[in-house]
Amino acid sequence: MGQSDFHFENAISELQTIKELAVKDDLQKEAKEIWICQTIVEIHKLYTNVFNLLKKKQYYQAWCQLERTEITMSSLKKHFSFNENKYYLNFIEKAVRNLQVIFPYRLFASMEIVKTSILCSVCEKKISIRNSCGHIVGEIYNGEMCHRIVDKAEVLGISLVEDPGNKYSVMFITDSETGKQKDHYSYDVIDYLMQEIDSLYEFWDLKVFQIEIKKEDFENMNQNDKCNCNSGLELKDCCYKKIGEKYPHYEFLVQNPSQKISLRTNTIQHTSH
Ligand SMILES: [Zn+2]
Ligand SMILES: [Zn+2]
Repeated sequence: MGQSDFHFENAISELQTIKELAVKDDLQKEAKEIWICQTIVEIHKLYTNVFNLLKKKQYYQAWCQLERTEITMSSLKKHFSFNENKYYLNFIEKAVRNLQVIFPYRLFASMEIVKTSILCSVCEKKISIRNSCGHIVGEIYNGEMCHRIVDKAEVLGISLVEDPGNKYSVMFITDSETGKQKDHYSYDVIDYLMQEIDSLYEFWDLKVFQIEIKKEDFENMNQNDKCNCNSGLELKDCCYKKIGEKYPHYEFLVQNPSQKISLRTNTIQHTSH
C-alpha cells in the first residue's frame, strides 16, 4: 500500500469514530453528513486505485474499481448534489464515464437469480412483498446507507448481455494449452491515453466520432502490405474487407499533448482548458 491509500483509510476511520458518537446520541442529521464525507473520501480512494492500476496495466482490476467508483457515486448523488466540480466530483464522474467508453469490454455475463430470502440492512428483518419493514433502500439510517442483503438465492442461469446490472463479469477466454483464463483484449487506446496523463487530477476529455472506412484510405497501399491498423494481417485480409463499415474514432483532449506516440484511429488534441 502506498502513502496515499494510508491517508484515505485514516480519514475514513477517523470519520467513523465521530459518526459512532453521533449515532450514540441519535444525531441522525450529523451522522448522515459524516456518511457523505466518508463517501466522498471513498470515491477519491477508488478513483486513485483506478488510476494507479491503469498505470500498472492491471486493466481488469482497474475496471472493477471503476465500477465500484460508479456505484459509490450514484449512492452519493441521492444525498449530495454534484455542482461546480465541488470536491472534484464532476471531474471524476466524467473520467469514469470516459474510461468505460474506451475499455474494450462489451459483453458481460449476467446471472439470473431468484432471491429466496432478503433482509433489510438496517433492522435485519426479512423482507417480502407483503412484509416491508419501512426502511427505504438508499436512505441513510444511523449514518449507513440502507440496502438489501440477499440471504439465500438460487441461480437459474447465466446469460450474455451488453448492459448488465453490474459490470464485473467480463468475459475472458480460456487458454486451450494451460486451461487458464486469458486476457485477449486490446488495451491500446487506454495505454495511449495513460501515456498522456501524468497525474490523477490532470484535466482530460474524450470525444467519440464514428468514421467510415473508405476505399481511398488505402490508395497508396498494396493489397499484400501489412495493414496499418497494426493487426499484423495483410491489407486484403483486414481493413480492406471492412470498407463501408464504421469504427469509433477517439479524440482525446489533454493539457500537454506529446507527439511521441501515434495510434492510427485516434488523436490527441490540445485543450485550452
Ligand atoms: Zn428495515
Ligand atoms: Zn486492418
